[in-house]
Amino acid sequence: MKTRILAIDPLHPAPDVIAEAAHVLRSGGLVAFPTETVYGLGANALDPAAVARIFAAKDRPATNPLIVHIAERADLVSVAVDLPPIADEFVRQHFPGALTLILKRHPRIAANVSAGLDTIAVRMPSHPVAQALIGAAGVPVAAPSANRFSRPSATTAAHVLQDLENRVDLILDGGAALIGIESTILDLTVDPPAVLRPGGVPLESIRQIVPNAAVHSRFLEIDSAASAPGQMLKHYSPRAELRFYVGTPQSMIAHIAKDAHALIAAGRRVGVLAADEDRLDLPGAAVMRLGSASDLDQIAVRLFSGMRDLDAQHVDVILARDFGEDGLGLALRDRLTRAAEGRVLRVE
Ligand code: AMP
Ligand code: MG
Repeated sequence: MKTRILAIDPLHPAPDVIAEAAHVLRSGGLVAFPTETVYGLGANALDPAAVARIFAAKDRPATNPLIVHIAERADLVSVAVDLPPIADEFVRQHFPGALTLILKRHPRIAANVSAGLDTIAVRMPSHPVAQALIGAAGVPVAAPSANRFSRPSATTAAHVLQDLENRVDLILDGGAALIGIESTILDLTVDPPAVLRPGGVPLESIRQIVPNAAVHSRFLEIDSAASAPGQMLKHYSPRAELRFYVGTPQSMIAHIAKDAHALIAAGRRVGVLAADEDRLDLPGAAVMRLGSASDLDQIAVRLFSGMRDLDAQHVDVILARDFGEDGLGLALRDRLTRAAEGRVLRVE
């Protein structure tokens, strides 16, 4: 298959381009499209053969369930059943938005979407291109992140092309994703509700609605109870070995600088993911400044592209710092821990 790329205005998507992409989806094809979190790789969620093509294109294990995307709040009852009363408030505040809800799966949704589980992950994206596309397709759209399995998620159409060229029918190029990291996943089939993956909607916002919401992510060590299927450790990974430092800003910077010097002296190519204000004097290292540590929105937008840029510079090792637990910090920590395959250095 030859992948076609169509440019589309992210705020005012051209109806003829949307109609063409919707036709591809309805015909069982794969369309990558921008959302506010990251680029998604979409297929008709009512068509098991189309859904199977997503797994093949991404090299994704069939045990890793997909998120289904809807265009309107009213569509929720066509993909999920037995909604708990608390779902209303999350839908009111976060549909559309970067929140994915785990609910009981409607039988009309292809079982392979959910890797055979009787639950389903549902999100209503706010991105105008995503909304227009799903609305025009007239079907719920299964859409995991548009990257090869275990690679950093794609935040631009160029990243999608890097990973999925000639594996998908169409890429809609609507510019960079606005948030840059994936949705928060909240399981409403358990009591109390549990965050399975921190993401674009901060934990603080979830707890405004459910103060006792649990966090089940074995990578954050807040609560080691359960985790979402498919949330295996190696994920979001650059090709280079990534080492993740957690501690005070001063100790993180000091350790990164020391280790970078030692690695460079040993002949290894070193990349660093840093904040703008980090004082790092590292001739010979590729230092990628992601933004100010006091502006996590900016850090999130650039995190995955920073990893991909360092890979493009063929570094052997990437040294990355933590950004705390507040707001998007928790999601950044989750992604970096997994990109590091658990190589977390505590440097308090
Ligand atoms: P992605 O769309 O690539 O960000 O991946 C979606 C993620 O959502 C999966 O890796 C799972 O961790 C999670 N997920 C999807 N469906 C379910 C479900 N029914 N129950 C729990 N987690 C889910
Ligand atoms: Mg993904």
